[in-house]
Amino acid sequence: MNDFKVLILKWYAQNKRNLPWRDNKNPYKIWLSEIILQQTRVEQGRSYFEKFTDKYPSVNELNQASEEEVLHLWQGLGYYSRARNLKFAAHQIVNEFNGSFPETKTELLQLKGVGNYTASAIASIAFNKAHAVVDGNVYRVISRLFEDPTPIDTNKGQKHFQSIADELLDINNPGEYNQAIMELGALVCTPKKPHCQTCPVLEICQSGRNQTWDQFPVKSKKVKVSKRSLHYIVYLHKDKTIIRKRTAKDIWKGLYDFPVYENQSLQPINYKQIPIEIEDKRSLNLIDKKEHKLTHQKLSIFIYTAELEKIPSDLNNYNIVKRSEIKQFAFPIILKNFISESELF
Ligand code: SF4
Repeated sequence: MNDFKVLILKWYAQNKRNLPWRDNKNPYKIWLSEIILQQTRVEQGRSYFEKFTDKYPSVNELNQASEEEVLHLWQGLGYYSRARNLKFAAHQIVNEFNGSFPETKTELLQLKGVGNYTASAIASIAFNKAHAVVDGNVYRVISRLFEDPTPIDTNKGQKHFQSIADELLDINNPGEYNQAIMELGALVCTPKKPHCQTCPVLEICQSGRNQTWDQFPVKSKKVKVSKRSLHYIVYLHKDKTIIRKRTAKDIWKGLYDFPVYENQSLQPINYKQIPIEIEDKRSLNLIDKKEHKLTHQKLSIFIYTAELEKIPSDLNNYNIVKRSEIKQFAFPIILKNFISESELF
């Protein structure tokens, strides 16, 4: 399979996208880009990468930022644990590694939020260490290359594909090679309608030659999606409203939202079910309904307003804020969009 690495490295040199984190081998920037791109498309990730490197040009500035500021800049990217882990890991690098970015895979794995894939990517791209990456692109390319029927979503399957990736790796040029195979998966060997006719490895690819690419990679399980209905109440009292920080181990931890009542019904709620008693029961008013999909959850979001004559004094765990200042807080994207479109704020 020597041909494989030669072919993809040549193709990569001529076809790689010009992306800002490819400008140099700065491990901080490579780490940042890898975390941003974990669940995000490159086009969307690029603008966040630029915002982050403008505001925090090095790990020191990121370490000095508050978690609140980092979450605010992350707004809209989703999977917010990534932002909390970034902040935590910046603290680890400054305090446990004296501000020098760890270079070995073993050390990199000690950083919060850095798993097997990310540690291999940073070690190989920034420090030229011989570790093969296996992400969704790599699974796709390798399973198609060999028409390999091993399911990719089992421990056994993951080990199997890691060992093939290790064998294919160009140990003299691991960073370029890893980027080349991922770029091939992103641009040519795409999930639907791969571009086999212009693919540099068509000659040695079994799926490409047999046109069986739609059968690979194989998965054994279906992702279970649960349904939740979130009923948000925007309380209005003069120029104020009520928000709270989400602290439970659940979606959107660390972000803000409005007082919420949750059930699984697709019908609007009535005033008896709402989290804070309102004086005028007629004032509960449904103003918006949205659907929002996460990887494992389908959310039905109902948004109501309710007028309060006065704000109850015993509101533990809630913040009373001026409506005009609400944009300073980090909200999940679905509520952030509602706030920017609404005339209430
Ligand atoms: Fe993917 Fe087709 Fe290239 Fe094979 S020939 S790696 S299936 S794009």
